[in-house]
Amino acid sequence: MPQPASPAPPPPSPALSASQLSRLAELGEEHTADVGEVLYRVGDREYPFMAILEGEVVILDTAGHEIVRHGRSGFLGELNLLSGQTVFVTAVVTQPLRYIAVSRDVLRSLLYEDGPLSDVVLSAFIARREALQTVQGLGLEIVGPHSSKATVGMVEFARSNRLPLTWRDPEHDPSAAALVANLDEGRLPLVRLPGGLELQGPSPGQVSRALGIGRELAPREDVDLLVVGAGPAGLGAAVYGASEGLDTLVIDSSGLGGQAGTSRRIENYLGFPAGLSGSELTSRAVTQARKFDARLATPYRAVSLEPGNGRHNVRLEDDHEIAARAVVIATGAQYRRLPVDDLDQYEGISVFYAAGPPEAQLCGAERVAVVGGGNSAGQAAVWLARGGALVTLLHRRADLRETMSDYLVRELERYGVAVRDRSEIAALHGTDGQLDAVTLKGGERLRFSFLFLFLGAMPCTDWLDDVVRRDEDGFILTGAVVGADNLLGTTVPGVFAVGDVRSGSTKRCATAVGEGAWAVQLVHAHLAGR
Ligand SMILES: Cc1cc2nc3c(=O)[nH]c(=O)nc-3n(C[C@H](O)[C@H](O)[C@H](O)COP(=O)(O)OP(=O)(O)OC[C@H]3O[C@@H](n4cnc5c(N)ncnc54)[C@H](O)[C@@H]3O)c2cc1C
Repeated sequence: MPQPASPAPPPPSPALSASQLSRLAELGEEHTADVGEVLYRVGDREYPFMAILEGEVVILDTAGHEIVRHGRSGFLGELNLLSGQTVFVTAVVTQPLRYIAVSRDVLRSLLYEDGPLSDVVLSAFIARREALQTVQGLGLEIVGPHSSKATVGMVEFARSNRLPLTWRDPEHDPSAAALVANLDEGRLPLVRLPGGLELQGPSPGQVSRALGIGRELAPREDVDLLVVGAGPAGLGAAVYGASEGLDTLVIDSSGLGGQAGTSRRIENYLGFPAGLSGSELTSRAVTQARKFDARLATPYRAVSLEPGNGRHNVRLEDDHEIAARAVVIATGAQYRRLPVDDLDQYEGISVFYAAGPPEAQLCGAERVAVVGGGNSAGQAAVWLARGGALVTLLHRRADLRETMSDYLVRELERYGVAVRDRSEIAALHGTDGQLDAVTLKGGERLRFSFLFLFLGAMPCTDWLDDVVRRDEDGFILTGAVVGADNLLGTTVPGVFAVGDVRSGSTKRCATAVGEGAWAVQLVHAHLAGR
């Protein structure tokens, strides 16, 4: 009898309705399986969607520990069924089984047509992936020390792609130390993949392709539209570009989803009054882009743009080159984060990068710290104080007037915001993402329930050098100010900038998506004009 895996939060297992089962029966094939039969196992590259008519299936981790059971009207599968990623778990029949098998391609088209089914299946797949990420011993095994940059980079890559992983540090784990004893720095980390394959010192691209994620690009590709960056803006451009008949390729240097994919809760996205997680929003967008045959390739970093007459060339790391009739730059920005441990545990729950009405409401009469010395920090502090929060502004200089406008400094006084000069945070304290206190670099501990970080954002534009004009902070200038005849045009005809990377844009998901969609119309006009 399989042993329960630990810790194993059982992923939700919603039931399909009778009408959904009969629709699946029309498109799939009915099968039976005996007790003990393995339906798919760790390391497999493909399996069909399986809806259970009778019987029961247990899902096991690599070591044979039980994760969850699925019974009558339930279904098997998680995100890898759609992405083609290597399977992380094994499914074994525990009660005589009668089930409908639907191939991945048929399921995909069904999900596009059938909204309610798509809701049930996609939400379950996403929830299952989130649950699998918490199961130890599943998915990738990354062996290497915290002191190895390549190891830390590999862990970050896996996390940003929401891959289940176990990180074994040889400095604390003797059996891991034995595994990498003979490997020099250049062959770290050791990455063991589901199914047994081992890679020494691989690049994220090698791991990604070994797992079957994303597509391999030819050394030279020729496309109508290249979208650089797969955050909300890039995915918006991908959905509209591909759905409107452009041969569309999207590349991203890390995973799909951008900053939005890291947000625990997006409360202000139109059409989702209860809010939704960033990973759910972007997973849905990725599925939608694939539906229209946009090609999504990760991890590929753009390293240069060479404008041409009719075709622009974008070079990628690893000597790939893409010739595109139009380029949409959607490389976004990276918000400066605090260099403290476990920050990601708090982000979206009690640490925020923007202060709007929902945050003000959340903070109520709580103790709140706003971190930063610029006007955006001042505005946020005033806004939160007006909402009733007890606000302290922490900044690292000797005098706030060096960096903040006078009128805002007066407003801070007016609304009772306490200002602490020369204050930098060294550590966060709390449980389950809820902040209790922070420790300053001087050692002082201060109680705060919420933290708002306004440390500035850095646009991801270094790779562009002087090819397109940028503002003094590095954001891409577009529109009339650079002589373009539309708001998203850059100094190079046929190259557009959308979302957070664009100078003066509103740094929000909805505007990023909107600009991505809008750029496609401008791409059509540009191509027609040529
Ligand atoms: C923690 C957090 C919470 C947030 N919460 C909200 C919210 O509740 N509501 C809201 O509206 N907004 C929110 N935002 C802001 C929102 O996420 C951004 O405005 C939005 O993601 C911008 O989308 P984008 O596509 O322009 O850029 P990004 O999301 O930054 O995506 C850019 C992509 O480009 C890729 N890239 C960068 N350089 C290269 C390169 N050289 N080659 C290839 N790819 C590259 C990156 O890997 C990234 O995936 C939040 C942001 C954060 C960080």
